[in-house]
Amino acid sequence: MRRLASSVAVTAALFAISGCSADEAPRVEVDPTRAAAVPTTPPPGPSSSPAPDPAPDPAPVTPDDLDRSTAVRAVRHLAGEIGPREATGRSYASAAAWVARGFRRLGYDVERQRVDVPAGESWGVPVPAGSSVNVVARPVGFEPGEPYVVVGAHLDTVPQAPGAEDNASGVGVVLAVAEAVAGRRTRLPVVFVAFGAEEPRGPGDDDHHYGSRRYVDLMTPAERTALRGMVSLDRVGVGARVPVGSAGDSDPVQRALLAAARRAGIPTVPDPQQRSSDHWSFVRAGLPGARLGSTPYAGYHSAGDVPAVVSPSQLARAGRLLLEWLAPR
Ligand SMILES: [Zn+2]
Repeated sequence: MRRLASSVAVTAALFAISGCSADEAPRVEVDPTRAAAVPTTPPPGPSSSPAPDPAPDPAPVTPDDLDRSTAVRAVRHLAGEIGPREATGRSYASAAAWVARGFRRLGYDVERQRVDVPAGESWGVPVPAGSSVNVVARPVGFEPGEPYVVVGAHLDTVPQAPGAEDNASGVGVVLAVAEAVAGRRTRLPVVFVAFGAEEPRGPGDDDHHYGSRRYVDLMTPAERTALRGMVSLDRVGVGARVPVGSAGDSDPVQRALLAAARRAGIPTVPDPQQRSSDHWSFVRAGLPGARLGSTPYAGYHSAGDVPAVVSPSQLARAGRLLLEWLAPR
């Protein structure tokens, strides 16, 4: 038992070391299927070899397993290097490929779900019909009928915004949490999703959240029955308190998140009647969901939504809150 625990610790150390050195020495990855748009920032995860064999008795995850630098690097890469990521565009595809590689390097099984979207107007800018993609990461050996949770964040932006806070912040925390729970024990298996096409293409409730609605549409009856909660991370890097949103006045997932925050000593603000993110696609379908994030800020949906807007400390609060929610009790 002691030997197994230490092998987990060594694995965690390798993750940390490789992430750190990779950040200091950006390198070109060799991927013959994607000659274009090679990112200069490697995605999270070990720099070379595949994920180690899962330990049969891994240590429980704790909030201290969060490496905030993973989230910060993702914000810099997605908003600072790639920039605006309209859901059907080439830059979105590049971002989705980068996130998929990050999940694979952490040892997850990755699925890409095509999301067709109509032409429309996104925050005043005409956008074409086309296809976007959800990037779905499941733990190896995931059993669809067993209880589990979904943690997701939208990867797209409105056309005029580099989207550091909205929503590279959410994707960055998703990647950092995926990194923290890899090789650790959680109270339930976690499926991570980077959603395409959350941003509006029109004024109605059916004119946004295309990626998460597609995800819900593709869920099997067994997956719906087994889902114990979905959390959408959307704008989680501004402010000093973490908004915890529920689609109605209150709901069980929101209350569980608020309780986790109290245990971890993280300041929160309840955010009732919150339907402006991907959790709403789940709640609309009768599934349990809640949102983290939504603090107003000056750069919202503008060219001013740059990495400097995002606070590493606030990213860490959101990530630690989620890990406390995911930790075995
Ligand atoms: Zn958003």
